[in-house]
Amino acid sequence: MEALLNKISDSGLDPSSVSGEEAIIFWNHVRQHIATSAREIAHCLIISAEFRVRLNQNQVSIEELREALDYLALPNDAELILEVRNSLADRLVDLGDYHGALNEYISSSTIAVDTGYIDAYVLAVLGMGNLCDAYGDHNRALRYYQKIDSIDHAISSRSLRLRYKLYMLSCYIDLKRTTAATDLIKECEELSILVSDKVLSGQIILYQTKIYRQNKQMDLALQCLGNVQYAAGNIHSAWLSNMIRLELAACLSEHNKAHIANWVLESTRNRIKQYASPILNLKLCNALAEICQQKEDFKSALEYQKSAYRIESDLMKKIPIGELGASQLRRLSRFELQLKLILSEQENRELKETTESQKHAVAQLQQDVFTDPLTALHNRRWLDVKLKDLLLHDVPFALMVVDIDHFKSINDELSHLVGDKAIVNVSHELSSYFKFRGASCVRFGGEEFLVILERSTLEQAEMHAEAYRERIFGFGWHSILGERGLTVSIGITLHREGENTQRTFYRADKALYRAKANGRNQVCTE
Ligand code: GH3
Ligand code: MG
Ligand code: MG
Repeated sequence: MEALLNKISDSGLDPSSVSGEEAIIFWNHVRQHIATSAREIAHCLIISAEFRVRLNQNQVSIEELREALDYLALPNDAELILEVRNSLADRLVDLGDYHGALNEYISSSTIAVDTGYIDAYVLAVLGMGNLCDAYGDHNRALRYYQKIDSIDHAISSRSLRLRYKLYMLSCYIDLKRTTAATDLIKECEELSILVSDKVLSGQIILYQTKIYRQNKQMDLALQCLGNVQYAAGNIHSAWLSNMIRLELAACLSEHNKAHIANWVLESTRNRIKQYASPILNLKLCNALAEICQQKEDFKSALEYQKSAYRIESDLMKKIPIGELGASQLRRLSRFELQLKLILSEQENRELKETTESQKHAVAQLQQDVFTDPLTALHNRRWLDVKLKDLLLHDVPFALMVVDIDHFKSINDELSHLVGDKAIVNVSHELSSYFKFRGASCVRFGGEEFLVILERSTLEQAEMHAEAYRERIFGFGWHSILGERGLTVSIGITLHREGENTQRTFYRADKALYRAKANGRNQVCTE
């Protein structure tokens, strides 16, 4: 779509400058002269169809949407196809072609399940339920709406979730299942806080009023209805405003104000004619018949009842209720299973990803707990565990204590920061020298390190210590320390079978002390 818009503006045209008939001509021009791909042509038809609805050209709008479908192909255009089919079904319902609408719902539900578009699937199922509701079979409508319950959590649009619950609520009210309605309306109220759609909020108030009226709480009902103008503000939905008028009339007539109720209904009658919704007309005729009866105007009551009957039998004739029976519901049950499978696979995948990332976090934490942050060598916590393990398994080892010579003066003369750099370099050299020699390196304290050489003789340990000392002596310290170099002194001892590690440390320390006392930059054993 973006590419098409770019092409349009490249040719010097501005889609936002046109409306009405002009827009239809504009998009026809774009389709014939600017759009190149099938998808772009489909987009032009879809937009033109949208403008036609506003001009009440429903039939042509439907033809354009059908033509758009010819330019789209599964599976790539699945999302757009589902959108088009949904609009198409809406228009067909408006025109009273319920058969055509049902066909769209059926094919949409199949495509939506195959491609995993949950919201589109929900819309198709709602459409089927609405047809049953229009037919007057609220129980069957409810069975369709309830098909969505098990995938409720996967609906991505909150407003769609609220809408489906409101349809269910309306059925509960029509079926006088007050307890279920009372429970559900609470859920709807909570949801509506997040949705903040004025028409949907108005609908909740309407249903609340109906529940009060069913419970004969007439004062509460009228009071509640009084809130609707405020909550819905400028009511956009013609359907909602007319439903509210009908409800107001019903409340008034129960208050023995049949005459006022009649005025309300008469004014509603004039409005409803424009929209020609058979369902609203049916409700209106029934309401008027009842009020005329209350006023003992039986002649008019009979007329209204006759009109209601005509609309009702027309709806019954046109709505293909036979195709919305048990086999259709079974088909949806199968789809429901298929969708649940898709969702559970998706959830499993997400769960696996979470577990992996948690595992990673735990490993990282473990590493952090046992690692010295400055040098990335093991720390004393790790050393404690390691020593216990060596003793437990009777593993012989040599212990080497490495200490930087005159380190304090580096800090003093060149700053603590340079001191840190020196420590880091001594550490890197330590781990890179001992990494392949089965040894473990630990930062024991400030500038003091330990090396544990498992199953090593004193001579082997001494040889490695000497090599490492030489390496540090010959290291290119110039870039870090300038004129002064850096050396280390090392003390070594062997762990003796059965002794505790403090004794081993004591001997290694003694060896180190001798190395320092002998002039530093040397290795001593004990
Ligand atoms: P010797 O040759 O006798 O070992 O002399 P020395 O100066 O190296 O010994 P001493 O133990 O007196 O000094 C160690 C100094 O290391 C003291 C302390 O301020 C410094 N130090 C300890 N930890 C750190 C550190 O993480 N960074 C820096 N920059 N200095 C540290
Ligand atoms: Mg030192
Ligand atoms: Mg020291």
